This record gives sequence, structure tokens and C-alpha cells, in this order.
Amino acid sequence: MWTKLWGGLKSLFSMRSLQARIFIIILVVGIIPGVLMRYGILSNYEKKVVEQRVATVQTQLTIIGNHLLSNNYFQTNKQEEVSYGTAPEVIRAELEMISNLYEGRVMVINSGLKVITDTYDLSKGKTIISEEVIKCFRGESSYHYDKRHGYIEMTTPITNHNNQDNSDTIVGVMLTSISNDAILGIIDVLNRKAIILECLMIIGIVAMALVLSTLLTRPFNRITDAINEVKAGYSDDLISVPDYVETVHIVDAFNQLLGRMRALDQSRQEFVANVSHELKTPMTSIKVLADSLLMQENAPVELYREFMDDIVSEIDRENRIITDLLALVKMDKSAQELNVVALNINDLTELILKRLRPIARKRDVELVFESMRQVTAEVDEVKLTLIMTNLVENAIKYNKEHGWVKVELDADHQFFTFQVSDSGIGIPEDSLVHIYERFYRVDKSHSKDIGGTGLGLAITRNAVLMHRGVITVNSVEGEGSCFTVKIPLNYVAVNPGQTV
Ligand code: ADP
Repeated sequence: MWTKLWGGLKSLFSMRSLQARIFIIILVVGIIPGVLMRYGILSNYEKKVVEQRVATVQTQLTIIGNHLLSNNYFQTNKQEEVSYGTAPEVIRAELEMISNLYEGRVMVINSGLKVITDTYDLSKGKTIISEEVIKCFRGESSYHYDKRHGYIEMTTPITNHNNQDNSDTIVGVMLTSISNDAILGIIDVLNRKAIILECLMIIGIVAMALVLSTLLTRPFNRITDAINEVKAGYSDDLISVPDYVETVHIVDAFNQLLGRMRALDQSRQEFVANVSHELKTPMTSIKVLADSLLMQENAPVELYREFMDDIVSEIDRENRIITDLLALVKMDKSAQELNVVALNINDLTELILKRLRPIARKRDVELVFESMRQVTAEVDEVKLTLIMTNLVENAIKYNKEHGWVKVELDADHQFFTFQVSDSGIGIPEDSLVHIYERFYRVDKSHSKDIGGTGLGLAITRNAVLMHRGVITVNSVEGEGSCFTVKIPLNYVAVNPGQTV
């Protein structure tokens, strides 16, 4: 149980598991936007608060600046451009109030860049050469937020309005720095609350991701269970998991495979049954013949001879069946091992016909060969010989007296065609689809009489398919048959694992 659990956990956390992927996707999609939102909202809020604070302080400083002006604080000596004013107590109190309120420092600087008032009393009388101050004298007041050191620095112009020519003159600048501790405090509280919310959200999302990833992958587990049941032999039913289109596709493909395997199994069983039956028939005949001889005491020699003849022909038949079966099995086994060579097909046909002529003569059948052109093709000699021999032999076997068999050979740029037509008994239409089946015979007793095993065309068709060719038949019962074999001139190898 522990190994199963460990296996489950391992597959969950290895990225090869669909469940793990769904889990991680939900987690990422749920958490990242939350974190980004918190970060975005808080930094935006901080910016707004800083802007608001700067605006408030600026307003207050502008009011104080106006007080300074109305108290003639800036009395400028034209030659030296230095301020000599002294801050009245009330203004100092106002400046100090601001610096206390915002935990900061205010310096008043005159147009000669001299500090004339400093709430820290440190820089009074000193000259300040700061870019911000100079810019402010030019009319560009600014602020700078230094988050790392925790302060906001701003410049506020003190503007004197001349009523006569309606002009403004900047006579001084207030350089103020205030602490941002209060802002940071608020942000910190908000951040903490947001983190708590986020943690709760993460717990919720993790739970949801676990539940969803388990639910979404459940149909796939059901497929595995169902396949395992079929594998273990508990069930023979077709599988059905209609939850998703994908599972339907997988299950359909599996059911089709199962159907094919069953059909294959069934055909194998049938084949074994047929083989046993076919092999048993001659044996039974032999036993009956031998038994009847044994039962007769003093049986005459002629009877012995007659029965022995029958026994020999039954043994021959058994032998033929076994030879054909071996040829068939060998063909199945060596599907990948064709011994392909470039061969003159005309010569091969001549040779085969020469071998079969005595049989044809014996049955009084005329054997004609018509070749349209010289054909050379890449074929397996043994298997092509089998194809040709079987077809011509059948055409002779299933012929009529004084009949004929015509063998034609032709080729185009891709294929060569080997055609065997006869004036024989023909094949009934409903049997045409069965003639390539193993042990199928149209007329069992007739075929048996002329030494047929019902395996010849099965072997022929297999050999044709191995050459990537096709075999077709046209036949009219009572008139004759015509078998056509079409094989590529150049052999194309079959991919490993592919069967013919
Ligand atoms: P067999 O060994 O019995 O000849 P085959 O597989 O070669 O087996 O042929 C299957 C059956 O097809 C035969 O039993 C026969 O009835 C029929 N058949 C094959 N070739 C011909 C033909 N040329 N003319 C008529 N019937 C044929």
C-alpha cells in the first residue's frame, strides 16, 4: 500500500503526471494574479499618499511663504543680493510646527542661495548649491521621494507679486524634507492584511487545485482500471468512458484494437480447429482401412493390395496438407525476410510451365503462354514460383476435358501483370470472397479427389501481399476463371513492425 501511495505521490509531483500539471496550472493561475494585484495596489496607493502629502505640505509652505513676504522678510541689498531679514517669532513658530508635524526640516533660502532660516539651526548662513533649489528659482518646483532613506524632499518657491507691472518674482525658496515613516506605517499595516488575505486565498486555491486536478483526471484513471480488468480477464465488455471527447477517442481506439485481437484470436482458433480436422480425416480413413483388414481373417492379397493403395494415397494427402501448412507458417514467419533479386520473369514462367506441362497433358488441357514483352522485376524467386505454380495448377485441376489454360505476362513502367485464364468449371459468385480462406474449397469432395488441400490460394495471396502486390479474380461458373496478379517491378521494403 505504501509503495502504491509513494508511486502515486511520485507521479503527482513529477511533471509527467497530468494531475500534477493541472494542479500547478490552477495554482499558478490563482496565486500569481493575487500577488501581482497586492504589489500593484500597494505601490499605487503609496504613490498617491506621497503625492497627497506633498500637496498638503506645499500648500502650508506657500501660506508661510506669503507670511514671510508680508513681513518684509526678504529685504535685498541690490549690490550683494543677500537677505538680511529676520524671521519674526510667529513665522518661526509656523515653520517649526510644520517640521514637527511632518518630522522634517524646513530651510528658507534667498535669491543669493544663502540659508536664512533653518528649523534645525545647522545650516543658517551657509550657501546651498542644489540643482532642485536653482530649478525652483527658475520656476520649476519639484519633489523627490527617497524610499530607501525614508524622506520626501521638496522645493517651494516664495513668489512676490508686483502690482504695478503685474509680474511675479521668486525671491526665495523653501527646501523642505519630511519623514515618510507615517506613510510606511500605513503601507505596512495594509501589506500585512493583504498577506493574511493572500495566505487564506492560497490555502483555498491549493484545496481547489487538489480537488479539481483529481476530479479532472478521474476519467483517465477509469480507463486504466477498465483496461486492467480486460487485461486480467475479469471483463470481456467493451469499455465506455464518455466523460470527455478525448477519453471517447482513446476508448474507441482501444475497443477497436480489442475487436481486432478478438477476431484474430477467433480466426486462430478456427484455423487450429480446421487444421486438426483436416489432419484427422486421412488418419481416420487409414485407421478404418487398417481395422477392416485386421478384422478379416485370411483376407485375400488383392484386398490387402487395394487397401494398402488407399492407405498410401491417404498418407500422400496427409503429407500434402502438412507441406502446405508448413509453407503457410513459414510465409507468416518470414514476412520480413523476402529474398529479393532482379529476375527475368519470362524465363521463370517458361520454366514453371515446362514443369507443369506433363500434368496438363495428362488431363488433356492445352497450356499456352503469351508474353507481351520481356519483364525483369525485383522478386523473391521461391515465392513467385509458388504463386505461379499454384495458379496454373488450379487452372489445370479445375478444368474440363479438352480445355485450355492461357498464361499472359505483361508490364507497364510500374507493375508487371501475370494472368492465368482457363476454360474450367468456374467459381460460383458467392464463393469468390472465400476462396483465399485457409481450407476453403468450393466443392470439397471434388477438390479432395483432385488432391486439393484448400490452402493453395491462401499461400498464393500471402506471397502476393508480401511483394506489395494484388490478386484479383473474375470467374463465371461453367465457363472458366481468370486470376490476375499485379506486382511492382521494384520492391519496396516494409517498415519494421508493419505486417503484410
Ligand atoms: P485447393 O488446394 O483445394 O485447390 P485452393 O486454395 O488452391 O485450394 O483453392 C480454393 C478453391 O478455389 C478450390 O477448392 C476450388 O474450388 C476453387 N478454385 C481455385 N482455382 C480455381 C479455378 N481456376 N477454377 C475453378 N475453381 C477454382
